[in-house]
Amino acid sequence: MSMITGVTRGGEAYTPAFVMSIDQASCIGCGRCFKVCPRDVFDLVDRDDVEGLEAMDDYDDDDYGDDDDGFSDDTAMVMSLKDALDCIGCGSCARICPKKCFTHEAMPAQA
Ligand code: SF4
Ligand code: SF4
Repeated sequence: MSMITGVTRGGEAYTPAFVMSIDQASCIGCGRCFKVCPRDVFDLVDRDDVEGLEAMDDYDDDDYGDDDDGFSDDTAMVMSLKDALDCIGCGSCARICPKKCFTHEAMPAQA
């Protein structure tokens, strides 16, 4: 099976790794991935609106409460995938993420 392949300016082939998922339980909502992504892949959303993240209350209280780090129970945000199909597989989000939230994979080329 042939995979989606890119070519550098110098003519070398490489295999892009596309974003597949974000571990939202580990995400601290820092926004670094959003800032580095050259495409329209991400959306920062309210943690309370994401099903299954209610159990993060302890995490918020203990590590990112509303003291001097800017995070609070009321405003805690988490990154989500708005349009994964817009990803070009550059890998920048994975490199910048301080919590290693991302899973990337090479994808088969369409026939
Ligand atoms: S791999 Fe690149 S294009 Fe894809 S989501 Fe991450 S930063 Fe955006
Ligand atoms: S860089 Fe990582 S921790 Fe920060 S918002 Fe993106 S996924 Fe979350």
